[in-house]
Amino acid sequence: MQPIDAKCPNCGETRLAKFYECTSVPAHSVLLFETKQEAIDFPTGDVSLAFCSACQFITNTAFDQALEQYGAGYEATQSFSPTFNAFHRQLAADLIDRYDLHGKSIIEIGCGQGEFLHLLCEMGDNHGIGFDPAYLPERASDLSSDRYQVIADYYSEKYADRSGDFVCCKQTLEHIPDTANFVQIVRRAIGDDVNTTVFFQVPDITRILHEIAFWDIYYEHCSYFSGPSLHHLFDRNGFDVVASRLEYGEQYLMIECKPTNGVRTTKAPAPTQAVADDVRFFADHYEKRLAYWRSMLHELANAGRRAVLWGGGSKAVAFLTSLKIGAEIDYAVDINPHKHGTFLAGSGHRVLGPDALKEYPPDLVIVMNPIYIEEVASAIRELGVQTDLKPVTAFS
Ligand SMILES: [Zn+2]
Repeated sequence: MQPIDAKCPNCGETRLAKFYECTSVPAHSVLLFETKQEAIDFPTGDVSLAFCSACQFITNTAFDQALEQYGAGYEATQSFSPTFNAFHRQLAADLIDRYDLHGKSIIEIGCGQGEFLHLLCEMGDNHGIGFDPAYLPERASDLSSDRYQVIADYYSEKYADRSGDFVCCKQTLEHIPDTANFVQIVRRAIGDDVNTTVFFQVPDITRILHEIAFWDIYYEHCSYFSGPSLHHLFDRNGFDVVASRLEYGEQYLMIECKPTNGVRTTKAPAPTQAVADDVRFFADHYEKRLAYWRSMLHELANAGRRAVLWGGGSKAVAFLTSLKIGAEIDYAVDINPHKHGTFLAGSGHRVLGPDALKEYPPDLVIVMNPIYIEEVASAIRELGVQTDLKPVTAFS
């Protein structure tokens, strides 16, 4: 932990503590590359994480927005996983029920291909507008609905005239460096309509710190939250926090807010030392964790055994580029057919479909997201492939 002079974009504090660094990581980890060379040559940036003890926020102080591009080829959808789809559906049903979302107008910021917006609109008889610069109309054809439209652009001040009864933003705020400024834009767009409900979902850093999950730290995530920092952000920018909770194997942090007109009706959480302790724990242990994986995978490769990753998304890219390994991993498997035959940013590993396990049988499959371990085990059984299976969180 090294004190640095840098401004916290979440609260304005000017003294932060740097605790993690990883240089030359791909500026995007979910872009699809048609050739290995393109994947290897993709621009890189540095990750330098710093902790704000005033609001508990974590920011990448080396982040350069100029390196980011969210357009065609950005493949972030998880909608090919039954586990994820069930969670998504349950979340939509729960929000519709608790906020009586029937015949209402919905705004979704960062809606991807519109999967969640589709659920909210169809299940609740609502209508809406989604925003996402990576939206591909041809990919959304099977979701077509006249209940909503998607604008293929970043949500910004210029759309402040589009508001709704329910404003939803999932897995997007962590990509935005200036978090306070962004929440202020959302608040201004709502104006005087204090009946609007605002729902945000972000990955929770607490689990990443506890598990020393370096594979969950990647360039396009420049902002990392835990409960207190997310609460602080909304509380200080014109919202009352109605509820916050962790879901999906404690991976996702959710917050539900109502706009205030200057008068807060809820209390900010009491200051806690817990996040600072978690940050210190991560800082003290991550090098050992990296060394464990490097040496285990080297030994496996030296013994002529094949290891593959299950999951060809950002976690795989971050795992490989943080470890700076190559041939020790043969390829990555992904169930998303749009990824098959493409290459992972930075390391240039191939992404293949599950059938590849029959053709190139592995000795070890490392499951990048442990929440899918049962799903993966059953897919491998169905293929009739004999292999060891290990969640990325296992260390022996
Ligand atoms: Zn702060």
